Amino acid sequence: MSAPKKIFGTLVAQVIKPGLCTACGGCVAACPVGALVMEGETPRIVGQCVTCEVCYHSCPQTEVPYAEVERAVFGRERSEGEPIGVYREAYSVRTRLEEVAKVAQDGGAVTTLLIHALSTGMVDCAVVAGVRDEPWRAWPKVALTVDDLLKAAGTKYTPSPNLIGLSEAVVGYAKQRVAFVGTPCQVRAVRQMQFNPKGCLKLGERVSIVIGLFCMESFHYDKLMGEFLKSKGYEPKDISKFAITKGKFIAYSAGNEVINVPLSEVKGYVRSSCHYCRDFTAELADIS
Ligand SMILES: Cc1cc2nc3c(=O)[nH]c(=O)nc-3n(C[C@H](O)[C@H](O)[C@H](O)COP(=O)(O)OP(=O)(O)OC[C@H]3O[C@@H](n4cnc5c(N)ncnc54)[C@H](O)[C@@H]3O)c2cc1C
Ligand code: SF4
Ligand code: SF4
Ligand code: SF4
Repeated sequence: MSAPKKIFGTLVAQVIKPGLCTACGGCVAACPVGALVMEGETPRIVGQCVTCEVCYHSCPQTEVPYAEVERAVFGRERSEGEPIGVYREAYSVRTRLEEVAKVAQDGGAVTTLLIHALSTGMVDCAVVAGVRDEPWRAWPKVALTVDDLLKAAGTKYTPSPNLIGLSEAVVGYAKQRVAFVGTPCQVRAVRQMQFNPKGCLKLGERVSIVIGLFCMESFHYDKLMGEFLKSKGYEPKDISKFAITKGKFIAYSAGNEVINVPLSEVKGYVRSSCHYCRDFTAELADIS
């Protein structure tokens, strides 16, 4: 008897229902017949499934071929003494571009690297996280210009299904060389698409550079922006920046710190998938 097919229903049973879905958008982006959509932060089936298995094998929470990815990306597999995976060099850096420093989350390395890649023609566009529909509701953005990159700088601590942005870059804009920015789980989805024999190679093969963000947790939008902010007397539109630093969750309004609480106070709003996540440094990225 042949093994049961691994289709979207399998993702529902093994990833979504057990609370392991990271809302990366990989399954939605990968489906060749457009049968899937993101509904809030959850993928749902709305069309006819043709049982191709591509969504399952593009998901970062299923079996990732780590050895193949590491050999292809780094030239070798990690050894036992490399808990954060293979890396060549580690630097502490900060941007020298004033326009980036003004809008970046931290040192502006990510936006500066992307500006360099775009301006020198290394890539045709970059998939980053913008905002859509309501303040701080993260949604992928295909950045075609430096201005787009500057507008998308800064951290949204809620999920942005950036793999859907990759689909938009490839299918919508017909881009050949895409820079991709994402959390470690999103980076893993890109690698699934590139190196899993049943993954969505159509999208994966267009990614030239993968920049990973360090990531300890991501929050449910409705809980963080609704419950938490409201309990402090603020609405998302009041907040100009969020930050997590030295065990504190901080929010700024027009540049002034208005909320500063121990991280433990917002732990209840963390997505359940993050509680099981073991990749802080985006181990499979080209640059983290
Ligand atoms: C959910 C989340 C949790 C994080 N947790 C930590 C942490 O615990 N410790 C730590 O050291 N760093 C963490 N980071 C990374 C940190 O916030 C900065 O992104 C990183 O230090 C790079 O800073 P920068 O100034 O170079 O970034 P910038 O130059 O500001 O560029 C940031 C880039 O990330 C993109 N981006 C923003 N939000 C998202 C998102 N939700 N999904 C995908 N892409 C996004 C932006 O569009 C932009 O391209 C986290 C990031 C995210 C998104
Ligand atoms: S058609 Fe393929 S990718 Fe789409 S839901 Fe079905 S198995 Fe998943
Ligand atoms: S591919 Fe991403 S959005 Fe889809 S089930 Fe897996 S983790 Fe969730
Ligand atoms: S903690 Fe892990 S699962 Fe959660 S957003 Fe970050 S990389 Fe994804």
